[in-house]
Amino acid sequence: MLARLALAATLLLAAPAAAQNAAPERPAWALAIHGGAGVIERQNLSPEQDAAYRASLQRALDAGAAVLEAGGSALDAVQAAVQLMEDDPLFNAGRGAVFTGAGRNELDAAVMDGPTRNAGAVAGLTRTRHPIAAARAVMEQSPHVMLIGEGAETFAAARGLEQVDPAFFFTESRWRALERTLRERGEPVPERPAGAQSPGAMAALPQPPLDERKFGTVGAVALDREGRLAAGTSTGGMTAKRWGRVGDVPVIGAGTYASNADGCAVSATGDGEYFIRATVARDICAAIGAHQRMSPGDHAANDAGAAMACAGEPDEAGCRHRLRITQTAASWEIDDVASLGGSGGVIVLGPDGDIAFAMNTSGMYRGAVVAGGAPRVAIYADEE
Ligand code: ASP
Repeated sequence: MLARLALAATLLLAAPAAAQNAAPERPAWALAIHGGAGVIERQNLSPEQDAAYRASLQRALDAGAAVLEAGGSALDAVQAAVQLMEDDPLFNAGRGAVFTGAGRNELDAAVMDGPTRNAGAVAGLTRTRHPIAAARAVMEQSPHVMLIGEGAETFAAARGLEQVDPAFFFTESRWRALERTLRERGEPVPERPAGAQSPGAMAALPQPPLDERKFGTVGAVALDREGRLAAGTSTGGMTAKRWGRVGDVPVIGAGTYASNADGCAVSATGDGEYFIRATVARDICAAIGAHQRMSPGDHAANDAGAAMACAGEPDEAGCRHRLRITQTAASWEIDDVASLGGSGGVIVLGPDGDIAFAMNTSGMYRGAVVAGGAPRVAIYADEE
């Protein structure tokens, strides 16, 4: 599994690297995004849904890339990419978020700035249109790292962030997923939220596959022209969550982490409880930061993938070494999550703009672009 995923991840980057033989070793900027991992299989996505996801990922990549190409910050690029996906009903973040057992949308997000290791996070938002913007405001405009619930919402509104009626976040397919989950649990289904659009009105909007109950968390990691790294993640959490449940996304070091000291930025998606227990994002960055600790080991598959991606690079050996470290750290950590019983994936930006994806699921909506390269998007784990 590890070898297959590592190879798939590396191939996603092969074309940009190969396309710029004479390019400097380190791309001027780099960006990777995800739109959630899970049981995403070809037979479950119609051609229209497949195309809609790819188009949406492409738009998010384009938005972030435009910021980076123009010399903007990694933080701005992450926010731009994530906000677009928060607005897209295909994803489980912002509009299109899954419902709690009580029939509400409670939104979590986090952002982290690599150079300063400042971080901001919010949990349980119900009215702030862009939770990633609220997380950034916590980081930049408060002395705190995490705000939750009503207090977080009051803070976001006071900072001028757009507030919407909670019905704004409603989507028909997520509501049906809630109904099905509660019926399976033998629990009562709450009233449809006041102001929710009718099924007919929603039919005009793109919808995620009906059997998606949680997938679609969104995230981005970026490296800008000044070498700054950043990471951000946003989610509605898990369908039918109860008791104020909060997952890994806003827990710094679990679902989100960035550190220029380590040369690493991570955004995760999957069963949040496991990602918290495994401290996934921080572990990956710690491993990358301490890469000299790693023995050469038996990473033949990763070596093969890295060799393809780095072919023609001016410093081919150095490129292979860094890419292997980034991919190996990501894959090890996802294996660790699997050993606990969890599933999901990560996107990782390593030293010098190396990008890795790892997942133990059959798919992860994802994409990557580096300066001078063609943007690439992928859905299925085995996709090239
Ligand atoms: N990690 C998210 C959570 O547990 C869900 C997901 O990524 O699918 O809240």
